[in-house]
Amino acid sequence: MNYLTHLEAAYAPHTYDPDQLIRLCPQSGSPLLPRYDLAKAASELDRDEVSQRPSNLWRFREMLPVRDPQYIVTLGEGGKPVLPLPRLGAHFGLHQLYMKDEGQNPTGSFKALGLSAAVSRAVELGVTEFVIPTAGNAGGALAAYAARAGAKAHVYMPQDAPRINVLEVQMTGADLHLVAGLINDAGREAAEAAKGTNWFDVSTLKEPYRVEGKKIMGYELALAFGWELPDVVIYPTGGGTGLVGMWKAFDEMEKLGWIGSHRPRMVAVQAEGCAPVVRAFAEGKADTEAWQGAATIAGGLRVPVAIGGRLMLTALRESRGTGVAVADAQLPEAQRLFAMSEGVFASLETAATVAALSKLVAEKWIHPDERVVIFNTGSGLKLSDSL
Ligand SMILES: *Cc1c(COP(=O)(O)O)cnc(C)c1O
Repeated sequence: MNYLTHLEAAYAPHTYDPDQLIRLCPQSGSPLLPRYDLAKAASELDRDEVSQRPSNLWRFREMLPVRDPQYIVTLGEGGKPVLPLPRLGAHFGLHQLYMKDEGQNPTGSFKALGLSAAVSRAVELGVTEFVIPTAGNAGGALAAYAARAGAKAHVYMPQDAPRINVLEVQMTGADLHLVAGLINDAGREAAEAAKGTNWFDVSTLKEPYRVEGKKIMGYELALAFGWELPDVVIYPTGGGTGLVGMWKAFDEMEKLGWIGSHRPRMVAVQAEGCAPVVRAFAEGKADTEAWQGAATIAGGLRVPVAIGGRLMLTALRESRGTGVAVADAQLPEAQRLFAMSEGVFASLETAATVAALSKLVAEKWIHPDERVVIFNTGSGLKLSDSL
């Protein structure tokens, strides 16, 4: 059903057979990125035929990892709209502002995209039990997709994660562990607990396929704009799978002959209290360093260490993009502005993109006529306890 050929280490010259269960590159510890026979796909796969299919993640199945469609675990993820934001745009003096609304996904966040892909592929390769460290939303999504697949999920979450994330995991009957500390502490406990078991760990970029689900946002963006990518993409960045995935998708689509060489300038938005990517970008570093004392009310941005740091920085630099850190104090106000001007009750992570937009317009980094897309990564209905 697909054109998957091999897995390639992101930071080392190693390749692997994709039809085996594997997480990181065993030789280098680097993330593994799925590669496809793009020349063959270019001659066989017609973007116009694909665009006629039902609007969901699996419309792009040839560029996703699952071999046999019977293994697809779906709750209706993907295919969420790009909507114009004329009132919010006018507020900032922008003529072409849009939102890609991933808040409409199952479980109320775009984590559904990555976990639909990863759970489907893992189940195809024989996995029956999963484990995940999470700031909150990824745990909710894993719990949902594991339940849908008839598999077991073990979720490790900071004890101060939003109550709704605790509830949505418990609701599925998943095994929930509340951890003292942050997502990286949860990661350590999850890895410890998984030792000697058959639990498959689906931590961000530590298995090859969550990034594939999230890359589809890049395909959908191109499709929504008539195969001409916008000028600026503003993305709230934690582990960075969406950023890395979309950058990969743009490259794939160009090789498929679906788009040209125009790329959006990619903007990573983080919170001032946890901004390892923004800091490394500003300092011209090749990789991110752990952020000490990470603190922000936007839980999805509270990721002090990310294995995809180098990949994110590459996307920012190659696209001539940038990194922006915003203060927590700006988030509730930006959230309310978005809801008042467009009727969209978005997550605090999304509010960070609105705050960043304000800053980039003030600095004239964005021109009033450019096509700008902010990513709504989660619904405000997944209420943060801090509101
Ligand atoms: C996880 C999450 C993010 C960060 O996404 P990454 O792809 O990990 O960078 C942003 N917003 C929300 C609502 C999230 O749940």
